[in-house]
Order: sequence, then C-alpha cells, then structure tokens
Amino acid sequence: MGLNKSWIESANAAESQFPLNNLPYGVFLDEDGAGSPCVAIGDMIVDLGVLEDEGLIDAGGEDPVFDVPFLNEFMDLGKDAWAEVRARLTDLLAEGGDDALSGNSDLLEAALIAQADVQMGMPFVVGEYTDFYAGRNHATNVGIMFRGKENALPPNWLHIPIGYNGRASTVVVSGTDFHRPNGQLKGPNDAVPSFGPCKRLDIELEMGAVVGTGSAMGKPVSVAEADEMIFGYVLLNDWSARDIQAWEYQPLGPFQAKAFATTISPWVVPKAALEPFRCSTPEREFELLPYLQEPGPMLYNIDLEVALAPEGKDETVISRTNYNEMYYSSAQQLAHHASGGCEMSTGDLLGSGTISGVEKDQRGALLEITWAGAEPIELESGESRTFLEDGDTVTLRGACKGDGFTIGFGDCTGKILPAVKFP
Ligand code: CA
Repeated sequence: MGLNKSWIESANAAESQFPLNNLPYGVFLDEDGAGSPCVAIGDMIVDLGVLEDEGLIDAGGEDPVFDVPFLNEFMDLGKDAWAEVRARLTDLLAEGGDDALSGNSDLLEAALIAQADVQMGMPFVVGEYTDFYAGRNHATNVGIMFRGKENALPPNWLHIPIGYNGRASTVVVSGTDFHRPNGQLKGPNDAVPSFGPCKRLDIELEMGAVVGTGSAMGKPVSVAEADEMIFGYVLLNDWSARDIQAWEYQPLGPFQAKAFATTISPWVVPKAALEPFRCSTPEREFELLPYLQEPGPMLYNIDLEVALAPEGKDETVISRTNYNEMYYSSAQQLAHHASGGCEMSTGDLLGSGTISGVEKDQRGALLEITWAGAEPIELESGESRTFLEDGDTVTLRGACKGDGFTIGFGDCTGKILPAVKFP
C-alpha cells in the first residue's frame, strides 16, 4: 500500500508525517485556550467539532462527541465508530473524494487551520496511568547495574509483564515544561538521607497505548479483545529521578521518582494507521501462559529517536531504536492488567516500558547510555552529559516508514526547569 493522496498538497510531501494514511487525533486550543478535537493532515488540522456540527461526520452515538475538549467520548464508542469516522474523513480529505468539505469555502475557512497557528492540548483525559517494564534490553541493562550480571533479569520477567500504577495527574502534553523534582536522596556513603533537587534526572523512551473501550470489574479479556480495546498509540517520555528511585524503590517499586511528570505526544495515532506496520514479539524463552498468548502480531515497526538540546543550543540525537524491540505488546499488558479483575476504562494509558536496542546508541534512557553516569556522552554543542541539566530539552520522535509515506506522532518534547525552592 502506498501513499493515499489528499487534496491538501502538504499531506502528499515525502517529508510529511501526516499523510492521509495517518489522520492522527488530537485536541487543539483556540486563542482563548478552549480545546476542540481535530485530526492532522499535512501541515493543517481539521476541526472535528465543526465537521460534526455541519453534519459531515457522524460517530453514530446518541449525542455529539466532538463538542468537548477531549477525545474520550469518541474513544468510548468503540472500534466500529472509529472505523466509520476514519473512513468518512478519508473520503472528505482524499484527492477525488467527497467534495462536501473541499468544495465549500465557508466550511474550509471554519474547519481547516494551519498547525503552525495553534497550540495543542491534552488529547484525552487520562483515566489511570500504568507503566510497564517490557523491554528486555532495558531490563537486562538496569538489572546488571543494580543486581549484577547473574541476576540481571528477575525470575518473573520472562513470564509476566511487570508493571506498576503511576500517576495520571501529571501526564502532560508535549511542550509542557516542568521543574526538576525534589525528593529524598541517600548516596551509598551517606549515613542518613537528605532532601533536595534530584541530581540524576533521566528520560525513558516509551510508547503509550491509549485504552479506547473499557472492561468491567471482575471480567478478564483475551489478548485479541485487548487489542480491539486499544484506540491508538502515543509517544511517551516517562521522566525518571534515578537517585530518588534508588533510595525509595524497595520493596514497592518507583513512587516519587516517576510521579512528577510524564509527557505524551500531542497526536494519538489510531491503530488503523499502524496496521501495515504490525510485527511480532520475539521468540519466547519460556512459553507464555495461555491468557498471555497472542493470536497474531501485536507489536509495530516504529522507528524511534531521542534528541537532547542544551539551553539555546542545537539538539543532538542521542539514541535511535525501534518499538519492535519489546518483549510484551500493549495488548498483552492490557490483558494481563484485566486478568485479575481490574476494571479498565476509557482513557487509561499504558506505558510500554523503556525501549532499548542492543547497542549503546540504541538505548532509551541516559541511565543505560551513560552506564549510570560512568560513561558521559558528548553532544554536538561541545558539552557532555551524564544526566539532564536545567534548561535541557528532550524530544522523542517516532516514524513508521511506508512505501512513499511516513506515519508520525509529532514531537514529544519537554524542558527541565530548575527545582522549586523548598520552604
Ligand atoms: Ca518507565
């Protein structure tokens, strides 16, 4: 399958990450800061509230779903509604398609807006945020650093998608700057802990699966059902305070070290756009228990990169890897989540776990790239880094490379502000 051409010329450009094949969903903010659902096409966005109001699209629910500043109402309608709206939008935006939009100048003026002229808001209200630990290279590297080579992978790792419940309250959209966290710190030679700014601030390159339709409390779902519940995927940076984490994490896992910020891309790429890029999880060392077995390929071939820019300087790409490195898919993680009776809801966000390749320049966290700070990296600006400094901006990017087109997620970016002075 090649490029689907649009009458919006910029969508057909080879470098566009938003061709007609993509049509990712987001929420843009108008001049007054009010949000409205939209799709990206080329360098434009289409206001879905306007199209729905004019009767050009109908998600099939009893009430409008695009008259609210989040995608949750649309997501909750489920896969048939998602397919219906996507097919209709494709027809309205395709070269030679329905001219109800392209042929109506008043409507064009109201619904078609340059991306450069708007700010993007949070695309959906995050229900709950669960973060997993499903990258084998990452888990192995971290395990070697913390427990030694012999005990790198915990004994449960090859059998269970390990996760923990994170904070939905501080999941923010790309472009939201945040302060370096304060927390309890205790170095190996300190007798007692102190309280102050994190000194080992890190990133985690992840994908986030966005739950579209939920499941009832007490009702497990199969991996196939879980896949159908997923609305789409975002880029996700699970910022991490390594020194706070090292002191607090036993025995219940990360807490404050991960609770201060999690950044997602402004665009949710629908599963339909990713279909041509499906790929399988790797060979299993141990056969998975039946409830975790996949009926087909559940990962995606998505090229990923991490760029770091010191304040006022050009960025350096510090890592390149691919989502296909994961050991467990988001569908498996979702099925596992529901397997014990946990209710899953529209807007729940599942972090994949840090995505690292085998090589040093394919690792998705500074902890691994610099081997806990022992091997600083050189930036093109002439500076070096072990962990993040104030003023640093980190940008995640993702791209599925099709035949003559690219599916992108937009930049997932955040800047580190100095720590808040603690009273
Ligand atoms: Ca993580």
